[in-house]
Amino acid sequence: MIPYGRQEISQSDIDTVIEALKSEFLTQGPTVAQFEDRVASYCGVQEGVAVNSATSALHIACLALGLGPGDWLWTTPITFVASSNCALYCGANVDFVDIDSKTYNICVDLLAEKLKEAEKIGKLPKIVVPVHLSGQPCDMSAIRMLGKKYNFKIIEDASHAIGAKYCAEPNGISKPLNGKSTGKGFEPVGNCSHSDISVFSFHPVKIITTGEGGMAMTNDPVLAARMKKFRSHGITSDSSDMFERPEEEIWNYQQILLGYNYRMTDIHAALGISQMKRLDEFVQRRHEIARSYNEGLKDLPLTTPWQSNKSYSSYHLYVIKIEKDKCSKTQRQVYAILQKNNINVNLHYIPVYRQPYYEKLGFKKGYCPESEKYHQSALSIPMYPGLDENQQNSVINILRGIFS
Ligand SMILES: *Cc1c(COP(=O)(O)O)cnc(C)c1O
Repeated sequence: MIPYGRQEISQSDIDTVIEALKSEFLTQGPTVAQFEDRVASYCGVQEGVAVNSATSALHIACLALGLGPGDWLWTTPITFVASSNCALYCGANVDFVDIDSKTYNICVDLLAEKLKEAEKIGKLPKIVVPVHLSGQPCDMSAIRMLGKKYNFKIIEDASHAIGAKYCAEPNGISKPLNGKSTGKGFEPVGNCSHSDISVFSFHPVKIITTGEGGMAMTNDPVLAARMKKFRSHGITSDSSDMFERPEEEIWNYQQILLGYNYRMTDIHAALGISQMKRLDEFVQRRHEIARSYNEGLKDLPLTTPWQSNKSYSSYHLYVIKIEKDKCSKTQRQVYAILQKNNINVNLHYIPVYRQPYYEKLGFKKGYCPESEKYHQSALSIPMYPGLDENQQNSVINILRGIFS
């Protein structure tokens, strides 16, 4: 079976994890801090807060930004459910903005229109969560401009996008507010030049892995400190945060918020540090695979991924579209044929609001037409650094066979 995505584990990854097992700390210790520094310096951002998943990172990001009952969080329907569940965890409301037909990311024009309407009825979002689908960055400078106009906070769900880069300015000239530039006007996703917080996932199918894990990046030390408290029970041992208590009692820590146990372990962080060494290599390899797919599929009646020249994707996914009016076979049929040939294609994603849980919240079919068209035509074909030429050729040949 060829999967759609897979981790890449080397002998040195394994050795590093074994070393971590022999160290003093197994749970969150100095290795977690090193991993945070490593990712933060790669991104050119001030702080990283490592947690046990991107889902947890999204949750503490919302909490740190003060999301609560009565507030709204907006995101795209074409994402993993975690991008919107984080609002529900906080007792807040969720709404969705349809996607752009070319990038499949949140459509900035529709976002602008919806904000205008929401302002009239006093239901502006507190937080907007753009998702860099498949690793292609959203137009963050445009979203940030809207954020300033309508006063919302931004959490980038960059679960697919560590190693991706975006243009900081619409004209291609980078003027980072914070963090370092990588030249040519490109900045690493995660540097938070145009957002409050960015979140990465280290699930095994993502660009680098820690087994399970995630990280929230920010340039705001207050947000970072808050997220660190939420990650570990809302407990602090910093005396400047503590409430006054009688001198004769021992108060070496205090719980000051309702937090969680979302900590990453040093074992996971050790794997992450080792994987970071090959991040750029992984992304380059993904680009190579994408180029071979582009070449091998170019004369078929499929839509291959559109790429903006203003950004550099991390190519987490390679999404093809099988559109009803162009193809002799349906998406469902192509899915079945590939599965039967031991190629484990997948669909990223079913529009979140069409999930039964979200339907119960009142969302109806037809709400975001472009996302529903995408749902009925998109498939993610195998894309991961270890996909070899033979395997890739067999995927291409099966697709060619289907459409010839
Ligand atoms: C994978 C993913 C998540 C959740 O990541 P975990 O680390 O598995 O919690 C959130 N959002 C998107 C877009 C993802 O792809």
